Amino acid sequence: MNPAATPSLVVAVDGTSGSGKSSTSRGVAERLGLRYLDTGAMFRAMTWWLLREGVDVRDEAAVAAAAGRPTIESGTDPLAPTITVDGVDVSVEIRGEEVTSAVSPVSAVPEVRARLLELQREAIGAGGIVVEGRDIGSVVWPQAEVKVYLSADPDARAERRTAEQGGTDVASTQQSLLERDRIDSGRATAPLKIADGAVHVDSTHLTLAEVIDRIVDLAVQSSPEVRESS
Ligand code: C5P
Repeated sequence: MNPAATPSLVVAVDGTSGSGKSSTSRGVAERLGLRYLDTGAMFRAMTWWLLREGVDVRDEAAVAAAAGRPTIESGTDPLAPTITVDGVDVSVEIRGEEVTSAVSPVSAVPEVRARLLELQREAIGAGGIVVEGRDIGSVVWPQAEVKVYLSADPDARAERRTAEQGGTDVASTQQSLLERDRIDSGRATAPLKIADGAVHVDSTHLTLAEVIDRIVDLAVQSSPEVRESS
């Protein structure tokens, strides 16, 4: 890690579900010696906590009333990112089906977004970070030096995600990804969209290494201070 060489650079990586944001963002952070923040994990952690507390996640008022209660903390080392709720590591639990199917409705609640926006801006702090999500370049950090919108064809996304999870049901994975895209793009507060000034990278026919290269190039071009870490 060499954050001192790039004190204020923020790389915002937004995009659809399953487009490869996490692997890409971690790879870029490692190459440039930057920190890494997975904002999706924060929304998943909030959802996990609501489910555990027995809050009806389809009841917007109940979700809004509870959103201020959990303490959610993100560790930003790209080699070992962590996420805790009230001190409990929930990295594994937040990837389960129950959380995945409830996270988009929870994320549409303005009080949830306002609470996590505060934590996200705090974590970004003085910069030197790659941040992935849905609204980073548009709402969380519109002043980011590098903004990327990452997408891929639904078939490619569903195949990759199914393989990652060691499953076989590509059709149901695709349905779940598209349903999350539909809710994330259609919500009133901070919907998923291509931010002003973002570079659209379609990863359908690119390898992970090629996508990382593209973003590293954009970062290097954005500032003479940005160097690959040795
Ligand atoms: O990135 P990931 O797929 O883990 O995100 C889970 C969900 O969290 C998304 O489908 C979306 O509903 C929500 N999210 C969001 N804004 C972000 C990041 C994630 O609404 N910045």
